[in-house]
Amino acid sequence: METTGEIKAIRRAQKPALNAVLNIVFPASPKALSQYWRKVTFIDEPCCHLCGRPFPFDQGAGALCARCTARPPAYDMGRSALQYDADSRPLILAFKHGGRTVQLDRFAKQMSRAGRRFKDADYILPVPLHPKRLARRSYNQAALLAKASAVYLAGDYAPDVLFRKKDTPSQGAQSGRGRYRNVQGAFEVSVSGREKIKGKNLILIDDVLTTGATAESCARTLKRAGAQKVWVLSLARVVRDEEIPT
Ligand SMILES: [Zn+2]
Repeated sequence: METTGEIKAIRRAQKPALNAVLNIVFPASPKALSQYWRKVTFIDEPCCHLCGRPFPFDQGAGALCARCTARPPAYDMGRSALQYDADSRPLILAFKHGGRTVQLDRFAKQMSRAGRRFKDADYILPVPLHPKRLARRSYNQAALLAKASAVYLAGDYAPDVLFRKKDTPSQGAQSGRGRYRNVQGAFEVSVSGREKIKGKNLILIDDVLTTGATAESCARTLKRAGAQKVWVLSLARVVRDEEIPT
């Protein structure tokens, strides 16, 4: 979900004289940000029981979307707080690339609403960044969300379980299938993490779910390491025409 234009804008705006540019691209004041909250689309039920894709009307308890009917995801259940679209984009990018953490608690509350079914979770863990990328970015936005959500959700924040061993290229430029290839074998569970998650229920936190390829790769890795259930909770998700796996 990285846009080179926006990253360049951040770099340009490192010069104090150009901070105004950053404030337009990524609004900073709670007042400027709250105008976006009025327009965002919150995701709730009715939705696909497995992946959380919103349904336009109620299809009954346990109904699945076409994609999950064709091939269920590697995680047990996924939910997202907001729809990722033109209205929520400024809020999310301000947080993700602009370092605006003033909305963090509000994000966390919305995520705990979306993830209210994940009641018996033991640990809450973020989708990790590769150390190289973390150094460039200075923070992992998924980790900030995981830590903030842990206040409202069942389970303890556990950032020391899952690691990214492959510095995968940005997912933004990849096609659906490319994304799956891209993140294959990209994650691993630490030795201490293995002990910790054996037979436990986990909530995996990400910022924006696009194809779900990253979440699925993480879930597969965690299950192979002995996790009982892996639930995926994201701040936002892209809702578009379903790509039905063949
Ligand atoms: Zn689904």
